[in-house]
Amino acid sequence: GEEMAAEAKEERILVSVRLRPLNGREAGDSSDWECISPTTIMFRSTVPERAMFPTAYTYEGVKEVALSVVSGINSSIFAYGQTSSGKTYTMTGITEYSMLDIYDYIHKHPEREFILKFSAIEIYNEAVRDLLSHDSTPLRLLDDPEKGTTVERLTEETLRDYNHLRDLLTVCEAQRQIGETALNETSSRSHQILRLTIESSARQYLGRGNSSTLVACVNFVDLAGSERASQTASAGMRLKEGSHINRSLLTLGKVVRQLSKGRNGHIPYRDSKLTRILQSSLGGNARTAIICTMSPAHTHIEQSRNTLLFATCAK
Ligand code: ADP
Ligand code: MG
Repeated sequence: GEEMAAEAKEERILVSVRLRPLNGREAGDSSDWECISPTTIMFRSTVPERAMFPTAYTYEGVKEVALSVVSGINSSIFAYGQTSSGKTYTMTGITEYSMLDIYDYIHKHPEREFILKFSAIEIYNEAVRDLLSHDSTPLRLLDDPEKGTTVERLTEETLRDYNHLRDLLTVCEAQRQIGETALNETSSRSHQILRLTIESSARQYLGRGNSSTLVACVNFVDLAGSERASQTASAGMRLKEGSHINRSLLTLGKVVRQLSKGRNGHIPYRDSKLTRILQSSLGGNARTAIICTMSPAHTHIEQSRNTLLFATCAK
């Protein structure tokens, strides 16, 4: 009831865990983990043990964070976890449900005019690429005294309707796959940020430069595989990739831990491209949700433990 609502408002970062089912490739493997309540996971090794985690993922929990964009509050929603744990599956669903809910909200508020803009980037090796453009030249970040960090020359499409968005998501998907073939499995090494910016104003004031205009963005972030954060790469290109991905993921981890503890002191947003781009959508008044995805397979026990540890620390 009321108590819960008060608690929810104080929540700095909404952290949840999603355990996917065993998949075909893991058919011969045993399932190590099982969620036995919304906050407890059972680990069934030789000696069964229970671990507590923040909360089990539901879209309803995340919805409020995504929908804050229509009230002028920035937000970021992340999928964190090792490669093949379900990050892309989870973010694809959240993006689609959120967009439908946002359009639903818009249709129920005819007294306001809404302008929706969409952009998409990929960060690979600390290089930023526009997923809506065929030009793969890395884009620079600019520091704007008013807008904060922006991406130079980034394509921003004004959405006509939901179908237009679906088409743009297909373009992003294709662009991401081109990179994947060229650079050998980039999706496990790159971060993808889909950003929806919404500007709204009361209709009777339109065009009069009034104070009732609200502008905010929601960021849907499919992170690089978390195994990259713990992996110590050996040589050459791999070392470079590893260390760069370490930088963005490790910096995000540091920022999240600091925010979860309270907002005092120095927060190292400027240490990576990912956290620079997301700075205005992390901390301050912004809302944040992190969904930690896990595979139940025994083979992945080490990474699953790391993911649970991250979830507990981020909370
Ligand atoms: P990641 O992006 O973390 O590498 P994916 O999202 O690609 O992982 O998921 C790996 C595989 O598992 C995919 O085939 C996906 O369809 C499947 N999968 C992931 N999460 C779920 C889930 N919650 N339920 C059913 N299948 C899932
Ligand atoms: Mg993926």
